[in-house]
Amino acid sequence: MTDAAPPDSDTPADMRSAGSSAALEVLREVFGYTDFRGTQDEVVEHVAAGGDALVLMPTGGGKSLCYQVPAIVRHRAGRGVTVVVSPLIALMHDQVGALDELGVPAAFLNSTLDGDDARRIERELLAGRLVLLYAAPERVLNPRFLAMLDSLHERGRLSLFAIDEAHCVSQWGHDFREDYLGLSALHERFPGVPRIALTATADAHTRADIVARLQLEQARPFVTSFDRPNIRYTIVEKDDARRQLLDFIRDEHAGEAGIVYCQSRRKVEETAARLAEAGIAALPYHAGLDAETRRLHQDRFLREDGLVMVATIAFGMGIDKPDVRFVAHLDLPKNIEAYYQETGRAGRDGLPADAWMAYGLADVVNQRRMIDDGTAGDDFKRLQRDKLDALLALAEATDCRRVRLLAYFGEASRPCGNCDNCLAAPETWDATDAARKALSGVYRFAQHGRGLGADAFGAGHLIDVLRGKLTDKVRQHGHERLSTFGIGADLGEAPWRAVLRQLIALGHLRAEGDYHTLALTESSRAVLRGEVTLRLRRASEATRGRSARRAPKERASPLALDAAAQSRFAALKAWRAEVAREHNLPAYIIFHDATLAEMARERPATPAALAGIGGVGARKLEAYGEQVLRVLGAGG
Ligand code: ADP
Ligand code: ZN
Repeated sequence: MTDAAPPDSDTPADMRSAGSSAALEVLREVFGYTDFRGTQDEVVEHVAAGGDALVLMPTGGGKSLCYQVPAIVRHRAGRGVTVVVSPLIALMHDQVGALDELGVPAAFLNSTLDGDDARRIERELLAGRLVLLYAAPERVLNPRFLAMLDSLHERGRLSLFAIDEAHCVSQWGHDFREDYLGLSALHERFPGVPRIALTATADAHTRADIVARLQLEQARPFVTSFDRPNIRYTIVEKDDARRQLLDFIRDEHAGEAGIVYCQSRRKVEETAARLAEAGIAALPYHAGLDAETRRLHQDRFLREDGLVMVATIAFGMGIDKPDVRFVAHLDLPKNIEAYYQETGRAGRDGLPADAWMAYGLADVVNQRRMIDDGTAGDDFKRLQRDKLDALLALAEATDCRRVRLLAYFGEASRPCGNCDNCLAAPETWDATDAARKALSGVYRFAQHGRGLGADAFGAGHLIDVLRGKLTDKVRQHGHERLSTFGIGADLGEAPWRAVLRQLIALGHLRAEGDYHTLALTESSRAVLRGEVTLRLRRASEATRGRSARRAPKERASPLALDAAAQSRFAALKAWRAEVAREHNLPAYIIFHDATLAEMARERPATPAALAGIGGVGARKLEAYGEQVLRVLGAGG
């Protein structure tokens, strides 16, 4: 990728120079926001002036505005419609609903429309009334639709193509779509129409693929940092995971929306039931539920306030609900990409949010075994192991989580001050000696004759031997006569589990076979000989008993409202829920939480003052201004 493509040669000079002020005017008047975020202004200016762009921005970075503002600016300048290609049919309805609320003429064409509706939209399109048209890729490439685009193009009314979720064009990406490959046809057919491709997930490889397959060599790349500063990363040691989850939700996110990821369908069901029993509104979601139930649960999650979705990774693609306040993992994700993507669904609105994970010995053992037992070839297994190692290193890290996360994506950064390790430096200790004891314990088992089947010598048995516990199994195998029996009596059960977990995570120990028999690895020898010093995390307070739990709500509510403002906020939310129901739209499309909170805090008393609140554009002021002022006034 070299230089950016020049703006349309026929773009009037005044439009080019006035581009940024026209864009800012649209941002303020239509969207009600005061300023662009990050690289938005550069992207918008470049695209509004007719340049091609490739935009890489993390989830919640504000990609939609990057094409919506140019679409409006160009439509106002008489250039016609912007066609948005998106694979997420479920999202189109809400996106168009949101534009509708802003007073921007928009529509979607996909397989969910009946013939009459589709024809009505086609008429609007041909008449030049639409500013944005969303369409699924297979629809865009359909000959009838292309003929309509021809007709618009001939009249100079085909303004811009926006290709959302552009990573779908790449087989390297995580959700390749065959139909996306055909999208280069748009460029071949309409070479003069500018294009903007957007994605939140593209490593270097995928990115090169997007450029090649969509013929975007001339497009100017805009790469934003992948940091999500409002997300706080926390990884705790697993003790009683569901209990820990319950404490976390009650203490920090009572009544707020969140997603809990579990690996298996059964665990999803059980966890959702456990939360519901504890009075937390929670719903299950996994591929084993019928389509209707899944749709219903997803719909409720999007539309209602404060629901917790307990789900397998089948849930989440295309969820752009902005006020998800936490994403919790009860099982290890596959790798760092998956962790980043899944946690990225929290806090799209920019307000504080949590990425919380509970992780323990069994997770490490299971993930390693899943790779070993998989049917993949050796090369692929090696790749998977490397990726798991990187994730385990993140989980065991004693330094800033964010620095590691960003480093994985090739970004250098400084300690963030907003992850568990930054907020409270984890205690570490010199575990060299303990590690040697554990590894010799394993070594002695092997010498003494290996345990097989149910007699396998896994972590639990090793800990019993090290701690000198005379269990039936110990007696049965004569393990009380081993030289390692009782040499670790100075450490408790939890610290030993933490040591074993970290030894496995670091690759100094391996769990084999169906019964997770422990075995030494190539790197064990150096540890046994005392050639490496091991500083490990000390077992955290959480695993030593509930009393040491973090004090509830040690930080202020993300919205920073005092009691009076809090009650105004509640009244506004109740009003919003009613409007959302009437319009059959998710509540956040009417107004975001952040907008309602600012209203509750500032208490504007006049339409002019209300217009100054972030997220209140001209159309919403007109439609809802009076009602909002009434709700605020009634608050006393
Ligand atoms: P993405 O598609 O990149 O995940 P969105 O386009 O959905 O992100 O934007 C995330 C949220 O941030 C949306 O709720 C959007 O309204 C809000 N947002 C985007 N840009 C701005 C801005 N300049 N000022 C205020 N809010 C913004
Ligand atoms: Zn940090």
